[in-house]
Amino acid sequence: MSNAPRRAGRHFLQIPGPTPVPDRILRAISMPTIDHRGPEFQALGKRVLEGIKTIFKTSGHVFIYPASGTGAWEAALANTLSPGDKVLMFETGHFATLWKKMAEKLGIEPEFIASDWRSGVDATAIEARLREDKAHTIKAVCIVHNETSTGVASNVAQVRKAMDAASHPALLLVDTISSLASIDYRHDEWGVDVTVSGSQKGLMLPPGLSFTAVSEKALAASQASTLPKLFWAWSEMTPHNKNGFFPYTPGTNLLYGLAEAIDMLHEEGLDRVFARHDRHAEATRRAVRAWGLEILCRDPVCYSSSLTAVLMPEGHDADRLRQFVLEHFDMSLGTGLTKLAGKVFRIGHLGDTNDLTILGALAGVEMGLGLAGVPHKAGGVQSAMEHLSRTSRAA
Ligand SMILES: *Cc1c(COP(=O)(O)O)cnc(C)c1O
Repeated sequence: MSNAPRRAGRHFLQIPGPTPVPDRILRAISMPTIDHRGPEFQALGKRVLEGIKTIFKTSGHVFIYPASGTGAWEAALANTLSPGDKVLMFETGHFATLWKKMAEKLGIEPEFIASDWRSGVDATAIEARLREDKAHTIKAVCIVHNETSTGVASNVAQVRKAMDAASHPALLLVDTISSLASIDYRHDEWGVDVTVSGSQKGLMLPPGLSFTAVSEKALAASQASTLPKLFWAWSEMTPHNKNGFFPYTPGTNLLYGLAEAIDMLHEEGLDRVFARHDRHAEATRRAVRAWGLEILCRDPVCYSSSLTAVLMPEGHDADRLRQFVLEHFDMSLGTGLTKLAGKVFRIGHLGDTNDLTILGALAGVEMGLGLAGVPHKAGGVQSAMEHLSRTSRAA
């Protein structure tokens, strides 16, 4: 145990994942672990395998792995592609860059459309590149729906349209790890072939589960894929999943939590969940503007409802501010990743958040800016309160 005195109240976990886990989900997880080959598990397996489809908005299959989101990234690539295949990726930020590096390591050949880490996926650039690829050597387009390092959300439907306009047969692979159950997402309607997600962000679960939702076209591609795989292989999962089981030990207790999370999301209503995230994101941006600070995302149509990345004034270190906020107010804010280290801090407003949680978080930031001596104007929390009270009746 550390010598630090006990801190009263709840820690404010305002990072863009993992997010705070609601008590209901913690209680669901605290059930005794059961035989994962027995009838009681079978009912749970069937329930979550059916239920999770409603969150991805798909009638197709969703594979569930006992792994973090990175595992599902690998599953998406390893199941659909073969060594030497070309894929087109878009550099929205740190996470898009990591996925591209993974593709290289797996023996795939990614082509990266460069960008400034402040903008969304440029669908016209994707369309232009696909039109050039007359021989159809590009086997997949891979994009990150919500780039968690920058707070920029891209328009997936537009990318689908661009691919169709180019009449290109590439698969569309989308990372929704920090958008699923926070920002509207429609796997089937948007013609996505593989959607990748994880448990510890919008789904309000602890880390440890990840998902690939797959189209018929992706399943067909997996028949021809020759990248080595076993743990991630859809073909190993399918026969077991048909009966509610898994080929190896699943994350039994996390699956109890997943069943609870799916119920909670439907009790609130997915549309209300998305509207709540939009409202808290807008309140946060109003606070940032009132402080006189700059939002990293350049284009208002790409503002993320999961998180807001805030640029520090020149000469001020974001991690020093984060340290003040942690020490004085017991709140964790997201750090700047790779290229953005020290330059931005990120306020997570996804998952199980209400008006007073977000106001508490913004108050912590505003007081932290003062204590850390970061030049700013007062009134950020006030602006957020005004927005939240004006829009509270509609919410
Ligand atoms: C969190 C995150 C990841 C990484 O997921 P892990 O669970 O840490 O493996 C990948 N992509 C995005 C967009 C994320 O937000």
